[in-house]
Amino acid sequence: MEKTIAALATGNSAGGIGVIRISGSEAITIAGKIFKPADGSFLNSIKGYRAKYGNVIYKNEKIDNAVALVFRAPKSYTGENAVEISVHGGIFIVQKTLEAVFDAGAYPAEPGEFTKRAFLNGKMDLTQAESVADLISAGGDAAAKASFNMLQGALSEKINNVLDKLMDSSALMAAWVDYPDEEIPQLDEASLKETLLNSEKELEELLKSYDAGQIITQGIDAAIVGRPNAGKSTLMNLMAGREKSIVTDIAGTTRDIVEESVKLGEVALHLSDTAGLRTSNDAVESIGIKRAYEKIENAALIIAVFDSSAPLNEDDFKLMEKCRNKLSIAVINKMDIKSKCDLSAVENYFDNVIHISANNPQSLKTLVNEVQNVLGVCNFDSSAPLLANIRQKNCCKNALNAVNEALQALNSGITFDAINVLIDSAVDELLALTGKKATTEVVNNIFSKFCVGK
Ligand code: GDP
Repeated sequence: MEKTIAALATGNSAGGIGVIRISGSEAITIAGKIFKPADGSFLNSIKGYRAKYGNVIYKNEKIDNAVALVFRAPKSYTGENAVEISVHGGIFIVQKTLEAVFDAGAYPAEPGEFTKRAFLNGKMDLTQAESVADLISAGGDAAAKASFNMLQGALSEKINNVLDKLMDSSALMAAWVDYPDEEIPQLDEASLKETLLNSEKELEELLKSYDAGQIITQGIDAAIVGRPNAGKSTLMNLMAGREKSIVTDIAGTTRDIVEESVKLGEVALHLSDTAGLRTSNDAVESIGIKRAYEKIENAALIIAVFDSSAPLNEDDFKLMEKCRNKLSIAVINKMDIKSKCDLSAVENYFDNVIHISANNPQSLKTLVNEVQNVLGVCNFDSSAPLLANIRQKNCCKNALNAVNEALQALNSGITFDAINVLIDSAVDELLALTGKKATTEVVNNIFSKFCVGK
């Protein structure tokens, strides 16, 4: 029998209320030992989905007024008996109540153990469980909607549709190969091809939306680079909506990387404002410049800033070269003053160029539009099924490869039993994706990334 577990389900800080979650076959009995309903009833005798007002008792002392909400298996988040006790949210009271629950027989929950039990008890599949973690950390409206959509099973539904069709074809083929003398309807080549082509299309669609989904749900690393005084810190502050980097007209003010996560439209940018790129004899500044060049190598998006009020110099050209073949936006800044810069040279190097004045708040809109455009998230549909992480992406990619190979095999007239091996391998990958056939190692790895109490 699984142990009964307990943990604080709300944040470990002072708040209006703190919720202690207990789950397992003994949950109601354990809660009943430390929580006494004010009407003299017993928790053990109440039905599921009922709440009782009462007191938490620890070492024969009332420590708080509380509400206990009872769930009876299988109708709970975990699919087990469960009780959620809401106490007043001071850290001391919450910890005391938790201590009382452990004294009464519950074991401390492991990270993600509630959601893991929900998965093991069939309350949700692996994609839904993963979306619980994403939903908790979602940094914006579209990210939250996308994760919620996953929790509702949008991805599972799409994958299961593909799976059903592949499994039907596979079963029919296997039966036909194994029992050629029986009256089993032969799977015709045309309908097998249609199934494979449809599966290919669905899986390709999912893989295509992966990058945009990652950008929306996880954000992206972006580096602001350019020579000293181009306006990098001003741009950083414009995006952050407050003074984060020091703005002066003294070249070399930003000597190390200043980092900040900002929301631009629906995208979370993890921004780094870097030291101005130039040749410097100053040891500290030189380290900052080296780091700035490293950022250009590593960031997923480069925002290269050029000062339109000064002619381009060799540092600008060096930067342009470094940005070649990288996802980048050239920001030609200080458009409010007389231009002395050869704009066409910059435009020749970059596919994406905007002309702004970073010291003018109106410029933010131009920047937001460009960033969303370049990242391909303008028409992001948060209601569409999404692959949420690299694990899911790899399963989908492997399944697609197997489907592609099966199609090739079919086109080259290879026998059905050989094609079936490939279809089975696609099926296995999709079953691993939804968790119906995931290894214990994969499952444990997923839940180990959760917090305690989830
Ligand atoms: P950084 O060295 O690239 O970080 O440049 P800063 O952001 O510190 O800006 C250098 C100078 O240019 C400061 O005096 C800013 O006020 C000024 N500056 C930045 N953006 C603009 C702009 O769009 N127009 C004008 N006229 N000045 C700007």
